[in-house]
Amino acid sequence: MKNNIKTILLLIIFTVLLIVTGYFAQQIHHGIVIFIFVFLLGIGLLTKMHSIEVMYLCKSCGREFKISLLQDLLSLHNVNKKYLKCPHCHQRNWHKEV
Ligand SMILES: [Zn+2]
Repeated sequence: MKNNIKTILLLIIFTVLLIVTGYFAQQIHHGIVIFIFVFLLGIGLLTKMHSIEVMYLCKSCGREFKISLLQDLLSLHNVNKKYLKCPHCHQRNWHKEV
């Protein structure tokens, strides 16, 4: 729950930052480049923080594991589960965040 509040707060900050950057980017020559840079940097940082802080619980063997930034970006997911391969038992499944 504490992590969810932190995530929502970071998403709000990121959204405000994008709105402010978008406003100023309109007035600068090639401002769209700055806007895209801020957008990609924000997505990268949020995903990196998520991959560092969140662990997943394997449905098959019950062990916990972390995933890389690339796995976090590319794997299928819903609200609190991701479709991943467990590094311990190598089973692909919808693993829950813990
Ligand atoms: Zn497993």
